[in-house]
Amino acid sequence: MRTAKRAVLVQPRTPVEIWDEAIPSPGPGDVLVAVELAGVCGTDHHFWLGELPLPGPIVLGHEGIGRIVERGAAVSTDSAGEPIEEGDLVYWLPLHPCHRCHACTILEDTSMCHNTLSVLFQDARLPPTGTYSEYAQLKAGQVFFRIPPDTPTAAVISFGCAMPTMLQAMERLGGVGYGQSVVVQGCGPVGLAAVLLARIGGAGEITVIGAPSERLAMASRLGATQTIDLDATDEDSRVQAIKASTGGRGADVVIEAAGKIPAFSEGLRLVGPAGRYLIVGLWSAPGTVALEPRAVNNANARIIGSALSRPRHLHKPSRWRRRTISVFHSRTSCPIGSPWMKLRKPLTPSAVPTSSRQ
Ligand SMILES: [Zn+2]
Ligand SMILES: [Zn+2]
Repeated sequence: MRTAKRAVLVQPRTPVEIWDEAIPSPGPGDVLVAVELAGVCGTDHHFWLGELPLPGPIVLGHEGIGRIVERGAAVSTDSAGEPIEEGDLVYWLPLHPCHRCHACTILEDTSMCHNTLSVLFQDARLPPTGTYSEYAQLKAGQVFFRIPPDTPTAAVISFGCAMPTMLQAMERLGGVGYGQSVVVQGCGPVGLAAVLLARIGGAGEITVIGAPSERLAMASRLGATQTIDLDATDEDSRVQAIKASTGGRGADVVIEAAGKIPAFSEGLRLVGPAGRYLIVGLWSAPGTVALEPRAVNNANARIIGSALSRPRHLHKPSRWRRRTISVFHSRTSCPIGSPWMKLRKPLTPSAVPTSSRQ
């Protein structure tokens, strides 16, 4: 029987342990993949910090590209009906909507399925669906998509779970209106995905608030028209800067992708009349803020939350073929992915990050 080395978080704020546990052949409907690329998400960092409760030892990592090693009985296609075979590259997030609950079938919103995270934060001794592992076992019903041969894997994994997350969030927002002013709080992968989609969606001014400077430079290359260094400014000066660049009104759309609680109250101050505030980055950042509800009421403002993603949002990045990819390359020289795509085989303790910024 195969074994798979996996990076296991046993206790917060301690080095991850490398466990080597058996991994059986895939059961009916399962697919076994050898992990080739795994992204680092801010949620991994939140778990390591102890900001999210650990259910027990878990395998971190939930953004993966791997090559099919073995298929269980009756698995002949990916989740979109594309034929697959051993050796194919696939892209997956360990989301597992059940399609048998109120959220899945009545709301038609699998991101709200109570079961969708069940395979991700499971006992680390079980065959991993997490991606900080040599092998991952995609359970029957888990969503995955074949990556076409003409699509660079680095371009797919570079935004990890951030791009599917932002694709869903933009859908919930209703898109950015042509020429609208946009402020993005945060310049991690989620923030950068927001910049890219806002630019493609026709935004006018796109201001990014964040740090460090390398990330802000990347935001500019992806379409930001103005950046504000979080570390060199205070909240009042940032609010003034946004007012100054929006005719004193505030932004039409503010997108929270900072992953930090104080960003929320600051973001509300950045929203202009009849503006929209999209909350995307606080999924794993518990906490409360003081809020004057009147500010939302009297500004005709809308606050929109968006959690996780749905299968179609995962499908899009796996199908961004050469034409779309080339657009990104021409704007970025394509170092996209390098700052946060850190884990490749072979697994060693030193290869596992203990810090990241979202
Ligand atoms: Zn993530
Ligand atoms: Zn469900």
